[in-house]
Amino acid sequence: MRERLKALIETLMMTPGPSGHEGPVRRLIRTELEKLGLATTTDRLGNLVATLEGDKARPSVMVIGHMDQLGFLVRKIEASGLIRVERLGGVPERALAAQEVALVAKGGRLIPAIIGNKSHHATLPEEKYRVVPYQDLIVDGGFASAAEVEAAGVTVGTPIIYEPRFVDLANGRIGGTSVDDRVACAIMIELAKALGGEKKRPTVHLVFSVQEEFNLRGVLPAAQTLAPDICVQLDLALATDTPDMAARGDVRLGGGPVMGLYSFHGRGTLNGLLPHPALVRLFEATADRTKIPLQRSVHIGALTETSYVQLVGKGVASIDMGFPARYTHSAREVCDLADVEALTRLMIAAIGAIGADFKLTRDDD
Ligand SMILES: [Zn+2]
Repeated sequence: MRERLKALIETLMMTPGPSGHEGPVRRLIRTELEKLGLATTTDRLGNLVATLEGDKARPSVMVIGHMDQLGFLVRKIEASGLIRVERLGGVPERALAAQEVALVAKGGRLIPAIIGNKSHHATLPEEKYRVVPYQDLIVDGGFASAAEVEAAGVTVGTPIIYEPRFVDLANGRIGGTSVDDRVACAIMIELAKALGGEKKRPTVHLVFSVQEEFNLRGVLPAAQTLAPDICVQLDLALATDTPDMAARGDVRLGGGPVMGLYSFHGRGTLNGLLPHPALVRLFEATADRTKIPLQRSVHIGALTETSYVQLVGKGVASIDMGFPARYTHSAREVCDLADVEALTRLMIAAIGAIGADFKLTRDDD
């Protein structure tokens, strides 16, 4: 399973899909699901849904993983041919200069470019440790005029992503672009394979969602249409096993899947997730039974789509399940395939354990 996941993750990471422009990655996933004999639907926002019909007496489950990735949009094309950008999602400004990027021209065609970094030899002492705001960055595709940029099929609004990259590291660890959240997309394709033939389980809706990095709400039309009882969201969990993260928790790479017990984002959204206790109990019991180690995460500063999905309809019992990841949102995110495989196995076992008697009332809290 690990080798299959790895191959799938690499293909997914190398395929562009910036928020609002998910076409190429959606086509790839749709083809993978078709190979498994699964029909899919795509809604007006672009969410891709595959439903595995199951026992109707059991609560239905929606599993979400977002297809989109963060990046930029062309904001202004200078007469010189240099390009100014607007950010699309939470890009880390400290880690942008001198990165390779790709302009995503029509049809997903990638045009290579470099984010300029002021010549070191001309850098003043007071500039040395200063982070340049993204508004002041220039993207250099080698073009010598605005007309050349336009002739290449690049206009204001053209998306830009980190140059897609997959790095095979030691100990089964991998790095590169869009580990967030193509790893989850691969897990969900593996879930489709594992659960497809099994009928003694709930109906499972696999939702490959859009625009998560943009505003976290792209999945809402799918949640409203499917009206699931349960939602499990798959995404990275912040690994805290590097020196700069040590005080934040005990989530380590290779330590197993991560259950989110609390997420909150105070700047603007005032949203977050306190998971449904029945789902916390389900994953604890399943991890015990299958001997899969389960890590726990409590953190402020990041959100997932469940923050919004939980509020749909009569309320959707929700939980975030993750794989530990380092250096999130940078052009080189890192995770461990052992965690990815363990999370896949945990999901398969947990979904199978949701019986007709699985209670979502709050009486047992
Ligand atoms: Zn994500």
